[in-house]
Amino acid sequence: MDIILLGPPGAGKGTQAQRLVDRRGMVQLSTGDMLRETRKADSELGRQVAAVMDSGALVSDEIVSAMIDAKLETLPVGTGVIFDGYPRTAAQAHSLDTILAGRNRTLAHVIELDVNEDALVERIVGRYTCAACGKGYHDTFEQPLVAGTCDKCGGHEFKRRPDDNEQTVRTRMAEYRAKTAPILPIYGARGIVAQVDGMADIDAVTGAIETVLFN
Ligand code: AMP
Repeated sequence: MDIILLGPPGAGKGTQAQRLVDRRGMVQLSTGDMLRETRKADSELGRQVAAVMDSGALVSDEIVSAMIDAKLETLPVGTGVIFDGYPRTAAQAHSLDTILAGRNRTLAHVIELDVNEDALVERIVGRYTCAACGKGYHDTFEQPLVAGTCDKCGGHEFKRRPDDNEQTVRTRMAEYRAKTAPILPIYGARGIVAQVDGMADIDAVTGAIETVLFN
């Protein structure tokens, strides 16, 4: 089963995708994560991608769609995929249709995480992760049990995304409203969109998504 998690930055797409990976054996394909790998490279492409991401604008449709296609190529047949942060434009949505059709895959569900945008800036600006294992924390909502030590792996180094500052977040939100929200009707017309309350607590959101997918 292939699905899309759709929602503005900070809606919880990554958190929920990770849970589906852990609990259901699905594979998360996050274009944001792929681009964070790309930007580490000491190359012209790496530098270009870093500059676009740090501004909060979108990387070109061709680059992200090619990344998705290349990843799908490596997956065993029958692996359910969660598209996280992709597609983000109408052009990407059309590319995804072509890519999936070419691989005999079908999109089963689009889950729209419904959130209050005002709360998202606080969510995003306060978030950070363990540098070793990637566990997520938040300045206000979820500090490690022992200050400075990761609950999951005992690591002592933490990191923040360079694009999780207020100014970039505002641009990312504007990009979502202008370019990503308008693709919902494409999937709505196919009858595969389900709305889930993304402001509920994390377990409740997971439960609501699982109800859509597995009931
Ligand atoms: P994310 O981790 O999904 O919040 O993505 C972080 C940043 O990576 C975005 O603000 C964009 O600059 C870039 N990005 C991620 N996914 C895409 C995509 N599907 N299309 C264009 N740019 C993307």
